[in-house]
Amino acid sequence: MVSKTALIIGGGLAGLSAALALQHLGWNVSVYEKANELKELGAGIVLSANAIKALEKLGVAEQVRKIGSPVKKAEIRTWDGKLLVNVPVHKQAKLYGTYSYLIYRPDLQSILYEKLKQETVIFGKKLIRIEQDAAKITAIFEDGEEAEGDLLIGADGVHSEVRKSIIGSTPSRYSGFTAIRGISNFDDDRFPVELGGGFEAWGPGKRFGFSHLGSGRIFWFSAINTPQGTMITIEDRKKAALETFKSSFEPIEAVIESTNESDILLHEIFDRSPLKYWSKGRATLIGDAAHPMLPNLGQGGAQALEDALVLSRSLEKYPNNVQQAFIMYEKIRIPRTTQVVRGSRAMARLMQLENPLAIDFRNLMLRSMPDSVQIKRLEWVIGHEV
Ligand SMILES: Cc1cc2nc3c(=O)[nH]c(=O)nc-3n(C[C@H](O)[C@H](O)[C@H](O)COP(=O)(O)OP(=O)(O)OC[C@H]3O[C@@H](n4cnc5c(N)ncnc54)[C@H](O)[C@@H]3O)c2cc1C
Repeated sequence: MVSKTALIIGGGLAGLSAALALQHLGWNVSVYEKANELKELGAGIVLSANAIKALEKLGVAEQVRKIGSPVKKAEIRTWDGKLLVNVPVHKQAKLYGTYSYLIYRPDLQSILYEKLKQETVIFGKKLIRIEQDAAKITAIFEDGEEAEGDLLIGADGVHSEVRKSIIGSTPSRYSGFTAIRGISNFDDDRFPVELGGGFEAWGPGKRFGFSHLGSGRIFWFSAINTPQGTMITIEDRKKAALETFKSSFEPIEAVIESTNESDILLHEIFDRSPLKYWSKGRATLIGDAAHPMLPNLGQGGAQALEDALVLSRSLEKYPNNVQQAFIMYEKIRIPRTTQVVRGSRAMARLMQLENPLAIDFRNLMLRSMPDSVQIKRLEWVIGHEV
């Protein structure tokens, strides 16, 4: 069989995992990444059971388990530190056959990158346009170079250029909150952190959480309700985080204090409304390019991994009929990712509440929720095996 060529635009989680899945099938794959090196977004990422299952199928789960940290404790607390929910992580792990893992995102990208054939990823290639006919698809880059393939996968993130050429321009939707995240070597005798342990505290219009990341590091994240454009220009991110979380229960301030300014990220958070199709001719979308979602279910990366596997299986089934493969891929993936996009929005509304009465009611419900209901509530997301 003559081997087929796939052009993948974007070397994030989606692009690297799709490249790996297609190389397993014997495809010639090139990943074109606009950055000049593997983009190192220094944050932690939670890989829930469904993501770990996908990584198992990609053949990299063992390395992730080795470098990351299993989530063996996850609590939700009130703003003054009282326990609301002790997530039944051990029961979930037993049920799904794996713990969730926290990993430093650049480590995860490196694991995927290292598994690819040499020179699969071509850096410094910014896609500006696509052209296609019945026989082939051509990617045209900013530097004037071109690449031809049998198909093209847009894995170029929330502001996808490929998406624009397939669907046209669609508006992004501001979530109403800004995320500040950090990594540090937090080690404070007053607040020992169990390996794999962590909590989230839900306050009025703001949320803070942190967790042990493995390799001596911790990862913290926060979400702050704020009108669009108000925090994004802040230069001193550490000061902004300290001011926002001043006088909260310890160790929140101590965790922020332990972080270098250069290890703090600040982003406004957006999603987009789910689409009815992702493909046109020989081009399709995966990951955030297809279905950007709010981070409140911790599923953006997990869904990208699931996309990569389903897309490769669809191409395995229809190796000589790209359109038929894309139909199969969309039929499996669009309903699920639509549900996750909507579920993430619903979760964000619940987590970012500001009204004190609504917060009291939410907290009452959470406190009285038995483990069995907690497990059932998230089973459709993290209990899914792609
Ligand atoms: C605050 C926050 C917390 C999150 N937490 C979690 C979590 O705990 N668990 C989880 O599963 N998910 C989480 N996510 C979601 C997850 O980070 C994303 O869904 C995932 O990274 C998407 O990967 P991607 O490869 O589709 O996109 P990206 O990571 O955005 O990668 C796109 C790549 O394409 C490149 N690119 C863009 N345009 C072009 C172009 N024109 N030409 C060439 N290259 C281009 C970019 O440089 C980039 O490298 C979180 C997201 C946020 C914002």
